[in-house]
Amino acid sequence: MARYKDEQCRICRREGQKLFLKGSRCYSDKCSVSRRNYAPGQHGQKKAKLSEYGTQLREKQKTKSFYGVGERQFRKYFEMASNKKGITGENLLQILESRLDNVVYKLGYGSSRAQARQLVNHGHFDVNGKKVDIASYLVKAGDVVSVRENKKDSAIIKVNVEANSARPVPAWLERDVENLSGKVIRLASRDEVDLAVEEHLIVELYSK
Ligand code: SF4
Repeated sequence: MARYKDEQCRICRREGQKLFLKGSRCYSDKCSVSRRNYAPGQHGQKKAKLSEYGTQLREKQKTKSFYGVGERQFRKYFEMASNKKGITGENLLQILESRLDNVVYKLGYGSSRAQARQLVNHGHFDVNGKKVDIASYLVKAGDVVSVRENKKDSAIIKVNVEANSARPVPAWLERDVENLSGKVIRLASRDEVDLAVEEHLIVELYSK
């Protein structure tokens, strides 16, 4: 009964794609999107045609869920992206990818972004040798993210390192499992964002 009432899996099913919100289960055949790729609820199998606004809204909601960001912070990122040189939508995704919780997840030290966020909040990580316990901290090229010395024996970190050793690390990051750390070589480029999203729709939504 719990399986299809699961809140996170329902979000993925609503968006019609895997958003990797639950850690190892997302990579297994237990994933609810793999089993039932239609929206939850009684009318989930009926494909409703969305309005232009509805389509834009879904892209925004999906992106917020993927990165685990609330509306206020997401709007703030949009303002930052608009004020940067370049394409606003791509800037927005790059900012989201630069969040410390995302980097910890991508390095394999968190099983999901949500767990990575919790580990950061609980003071498991240093950036350039200094404790950072703010999940929304934005990394820069050259930053080194590492498990804090007094957390290196943490069971959860060990489990994650073991479980995620085969998960590929994107080219913009370099993982050093021996030292339980990772380096930000450069910021993520658009084609390295593993979310199927039409970010221009988010820009259109916020530009109304
Ligand atoms: Fe659930 Fe993960 Fe599959 Fe999403 S990707 S439906 S959170 S198991």
